[in-house]
Amino acid sequence: RGRLRVHLRATWLSGKTRPMEYRVAQLEALGRFLDEKKQDILEATAADMGKVRGIRAYFTEILLCKNELNDTLNNLCHWMKDEHVDKNLVTQLDSAFIRKDPYGVVLIIAPWNYPIHLFLVPLIGAIAAGNCVVVKPSETSKNTERLVAEMLSCYLDNDCFAVVTAGVEETTRLLENKFDYIFFTGMSRRVGRIIMTAAAKHLTPVTLELGGKNPCYVSDTCDVQNVARRVAWGRFFNAGQTCIAPDYVLCSVEMQEKLMPALREAITEFFGSNPRESPDFGRIVGDKQFRRIRALLCSGRVAIGGQTDEKERYIAPTVLADVLPSDPAMQEEIFGPILPIVVVANMDEAIDFINARPRPLAIYAFSCDSKVRVLERTSSGGFCGNDTLMHVTLTSLPFGGIGNSGLGKYHGKFTFDTFTHHRGCLHRNMGLEALNALRYPPYSQQKLGL
Ligand code: NAD
Repeated sequence: RGRLRVHLRATWLSGKTRPMEYRVAQLEALGRFLDEKKQDILEATAADMGKVRGIRAYFTEILLCKNELNDTLNNLCHWMKDEHVDKNLVTQLDSAFIRKDPYGVVLIIAPWNYPIHLFLVPLIGAIAAGNCVVVKPSETSKNTERLVAEMLSCYLDNDCFAVVTAGVEETTRLLENKFDYIFFTGMSRRVGRIIMTAAAKHLTPVTLELGGKNPCYVSDTCDVQNVARRVAWGRFFNAGQTCIAPDYVLCSVEMQEKLMPALREAITEFFGSNPRESPDFGRIVGDKQFRRIRALLCSGRVAIGGQTDEKERYIAPTVLADVLPSDPAMQEEIFGPILPIVVVANMDEAIDFINARPRPLAIYAFSCDSKVRVLERTSSGGFCGNDTLMHVTLTSLPFGGIGNSGLGKYHGKFTFDTFTHHRGCLHRNMGLEALNALRYPPYSQQKLGL
């Protein structure tokens, strides 16, 4: 690992990754990886996430990545350009600009829930910005980890890009090295802090893409069936293992009554009367995670679903009614197919409820009239009115957390900027020295016009 780091640093210093043609060639190679290994990617992610039909993975692991890749290839030339800036009186004859410099050797650490997407999208930006990169996929999604470790080296330049497979112990050792930037996606409470502490030792800048509990407020004035479909889709996509999934619903007791049959209908529409048989409903990634999520079912009352099967790591799409803030499901990010509903008296109470808790990665608000108020009176990484998850599909929007849900942002040009040092540069004119006499000592009141 030490040799690898030394090798990457030497390559970085040689300037190999800087020319645009080089970056474009590597990005195009990533595109070929996605095209030629599409089937392998779908099979590996299906094996990791419970043999579900590959269409969900095609959307998140291939299509969204290609979207980012195309956006980057189409704009790289423009993003890389020096940005000329305003000048003052004494620099009128000079050149003042922002140089888009790569950081150097960067580290990307990814989680398992979208195991290709969550390392590939940062990797696209890191390559586009001209860095050498070490990628550490999650050891939990074993099939994808193996695929990435075996295949990526066949596409990318091994002098500049490396995949490291590592569990916690080895990652801890990896973090003892000095990197020029660390991009981490994973769990908030514990690991985010570990990464930031390790980075602090070397004063390494970080992006932390973390998790949390994303509230979803539903006002009384909504079309219930549409709300139910959009909330159920966001909550049960990838069996609930999505960082921006709506974690819980806040609504009035009347809306809870109306939502129940609508949610039941939406779940049946999506996954049939027995979701266990549905090729579109996934499984929980591991036994440890399964047991953690199952323990949350004792919150409130099970209104829909609730069935589990440990052997298959299956948890049915579940809705819990009348959940109290003190219930287990409200103490931590659920990250599974369980949707608690917490009753509030009105929108103001919902806003107070949200503001009394750590700032989430996303807030959702369904309403004809009040979504703007929720947006204005709360704080979160992102916001989507009248739907769930959809804001993530736009490369023009920054994606990232705030407070406990993370630090920094990416997607589209934001990823390029994340991996770029904006270097302030001034090229002075060597002539007109007489004008400089003013700033050279010895000073006098007369010289300064006082
Ligand atoms: P995790 O934090 O357990 O693991 C993420 C990565 O960190 C893995 O590669 C793992 O090997 C490494 N890691 C784990 N413990 C470590 C340690 N002690 N020292 C060094 N490295 C360590 O997270 P996870 O379970 O893989 O992912 C789920 C979490 O990620 C959820 O909280 C979810 O909300 C969050 N997430 C956030 C985003 C986002 O974009 N903000 C996206 C996906 C997932």
